[in-house]
Amino acid sequence: MESADSGSQPGPVSKEDPGPSNVNPTSPPATPSRYESQKRRDWTTFLQYLKNHKPPLALSRCSGAHAIEFLKYLDQFGKTKVHVAACPYFGHQQPPSPCACPLKQAWGSLDALIGRLRAAYEENGGRPEQNPFAARAVRIYLREVRESQAKARGIPYEKKKRKRPTTVAPSRDGWNIGDPSVAEAVPP
Ligand SMILES: [Zn+2]
Repeated sequence: MESADSGSQPGPVSKEDPGPSNVNPTSPPATPSRYESQKRRDWTTFLQYLKNHKPPLALSRCSGAHAIEFLKYLDQFGKTKVHVAACPYFGHQQPPSPCACPLKQAWGSLDALIGRLRAAYEENGGRPEQNPFAARAVRIYLREVRESQAKARGIPYEKKKRKRPTTVAPSRDGWNIGDPSVAEAVPP
C-alpha cells in the first residue's frame, strides 16, 4: 500500500519579502519616491561619467553634445535588440531566432533618463539656459533614435494602443515609458 504521499513537501510558496516598509532606520525620514531615487542614481552615474571622462569634464562645461555622448556610452549596457539594416529580422518585432545585432538602450529609456537628468541638473544648481539635457541637439538625437528604432524593431510607437491587454507585456523594455499621449487610448 503505497498511496498516501501527500503533504510532505512544502510548496514553492513561502517567504515573501515584505518590502522596504519599516526597515532601514538610516534612511532619511521622507522616503524618496521611485522616480526621485532613480533620478538621484542617474545623476550620480552622470557625475561619475564626467569624472572618468578623458580629459575630465567639468559639469559647467557640459553641452548637449556631451549629453548625447553619455547616451551613446550607455548603449553598451542596453538590453534592447536593435537590428541593423542588413539583418533579415530588420523590422521584425519578434524574430524567430537570435541574431548578432547589437543591444542598445531603448528609446523610451533614454527619453525618460534625459527627463530625469534635466530636472536633476537644475535641482543641483545648474542654470536652465545652460542645461545640456535641454539642448536642442539632444531632442533631435532622441527623435532620430526613436525613428530608427521604430524601423529596426518594427514598433510603430505612434500607433494607438491595442484593445487586447492580454498579450501585451507592460513596457518590458521601457518602450512605453515617457509616452504622454494617454488620451489616445480613450475611445471617441
Ligand atoms: Zn538582427
